[in-house]
Amino acid sequence: AVAEETFEFTAETDRVMEIIINSLYSDKDVFLRELVSNAADACDKKRFLSIEAGNAADALRVRITADPDKKTLTIEDSGVGMSRDELVANLGKIAKSGTKAFAEALGDAPDDVNLIGQFGVGFYSGYLVADKMTVTTKSMNSDKTHTWSSDAKSGFTVREEGEIEGSSGTRIVLDVKEDCSEYLEEATLRRLLKRYSEFLQFPIELYASKTTYDDEVDEEATKKARESDPDAKEVTKSVTNVKFDYEVVNSMKPLWLRPPKEVNASEHSEFYKSAFRAFDDPLRTIHFALEGQVQFKALMYVPKSLPFELNQNMFDENANSMKLYVKRVFINDKFDLLPRWLVFMRGIVDSEDLPLNVGREILQKSKMLGVIQRRLVRKSLDAFSDLQKNATEYDEFWKNFGKYIKVGAVEEQGDVQKDLAKLCRFYSTKSGDDQTTFSEYIERMPQNATKILYLSGDSREQALNSPVIQRLIKTDYEVLLLPEALDEIVCQAIGEVDGKKLVDASKDDLKDVFDDDDEDEDNGDFEELCSWLKLQLEDRVSSVKLSKRLVDAPAALTEGAFGMSPTMRKYMAAQAV
Ligand code: ADP
Ligand code: MG
Repeated sequence: AVAEETFEFTAETDRVMEIIINSLYSDKDVFLRELVSNAADACDKKRFLSIEAGNAADALRVRITADPDKKTLTIEDSGVGMSRDELVANLGKIAKSGTKAFAEALGDAPDDVNLIGQFGVGFYSGYLVADKMTVTTKSMNSDKTHTWSSDAKSGFTVREEGEIEGSSGTRIVLDVKEDCSEYLEEATLRRLLKRYSEFLQFPIELYASKTTYDDEVDEEATKKARESDPDAKEVTKSVTNVKFDYEVVNSMKPLWLRPPKEVNASEHSEFYKSAFRAFDDPLRTIHFALEGQVQFKALMYVPKSLPFELNQNMFDENANSMKLYVKRVFINDKFDLLPRWLVFMRGIVDSEDLPLNVGREILQKSKMLGVIQRRLVRKSLDAFSDLQKNATEYDEFWKNFGKYIKVGAVEEQGDVQKDLAKLCRFYSTKSGDDQTTFSEYIERMPQNATKILYLSGDSREQALNSPVIQRLIKTDYEVLLLPEALDEIVCQAIGEVDGKKLVDASKDDLKDVFDDDDEDEDNGDFEELCSWLKLQLEDRVSSVKLSKRLVDAPAALTEGAFGMSPTMRKYMAAQAV
């Protein structure tokens, strides 16, 4: 008989496992990501140690085999393996900081199932789908093989037993739970492996069926044919063969890790389409690495068309497509790596510093995220401003994403807001069907003029024909025409551009534009008419004044300097519903 040692799990581990097993874990799929990434980590370590020792490592790979009859799923790697002591230490207690934080967080909120969903819990996540796990492993530094086994209920056992091929490696056998048999199906495994391991650096091999078709002589048919014609050719038929073998399911090409200059447009295009379910090429590619205190590699794409998910809802939560990787392992695409106005961007961030088990809560609070975010925003802005150099491309970009840029201009501040303002376009009294930028407007401004004027309206025409701005048009003073409520909010948020204040042309103070503006002017001969009108209109207006801003129209409604425009008022009313 083999000597068997029995161990208890540490208290923390016990707690985490209990919760995994007893909670309605929303996403059981993650177990495969965890186990495969552990296997790939083990390969990474072996590769590193072999390089260090100057040895050639054996072929490093991960194999996944499902046995539907025995109801087992096996994950096998040729990585570093574990010695007896490592087995006891690594699989008997929670090792990593992320998992530890998880256990600690659970201390405060023991029943928070949501919290559980936000953490990867490593090796123990196997118990999401397995009643029992058996780990057979041989360390690089030992020729003994050990087997660890646990049903997660009563501690674990370790025996000196088992076989591992090659110099080292680990095999994990999961006795798959009755209600988890989908994880024994080839299609499920293939789908999950594609998702989780596409860009791992080692071959991930799935034991899978392969159908081949052979042509075989059809004796019967040949005989029959030759009865009538002795010289007839052999008749063949197609036969189907199903063979099982290991098949590499990942492409092992982390595009973003390659030097940006060495990745060509067609490689980007292919990757963009497969990773982000896009059907066209990206409009721009942003590929860079940040070295220094925070290290990460990033690959971002500006889509050519509005991503499908955003058609319905401008800020659809599920449309966020920035994927976070930690050391090439896909973590998830739920982190807010970008501010919401950049929700249309697609991309990948691969961090060198974050733990694989990083939780959303932890990440959202970390300074690292701030650094990453700022960098991604900066690079995006640079790309957009570069797009502006190409009128056709920018037209397209603006048509699809202009409203996101405007929202950004409202929600950001400082330099980012300034750069967003430069990207904005509006109709104006001089733009015709094209739109104009603030800087083009400023170029056309009369010397010494200090105000950029705008007027909102239900439509471009309505604003253009407003009596309020007829004198401005006549004197050739350009006015931005804002048919959308968002436009006006943008102008208010931006406040000024290059020292020129943005001012609503319907406000009653245009002193800086016309030397002889209305303000403080008495109503002269028309005093009586004005008083009479005010009496008639009662509270509907605050005052009736003689004005010089009119050209053909007899009267116009204007706003007080701090009043709200009609468009804005409508917008606010709509928001309040
Ligand atoms: P983490 O991967 O964050 O360290 P896990 O719970 O996933 O946490 O794994 C715990 C430890 O068990 C790992 O750090 C590693 O030392 C060891 N381990 C797990 N799987 C393997 C494996 N396939 N080969 C070698 N060691 C492993
Ligand atoms: Mg792990």
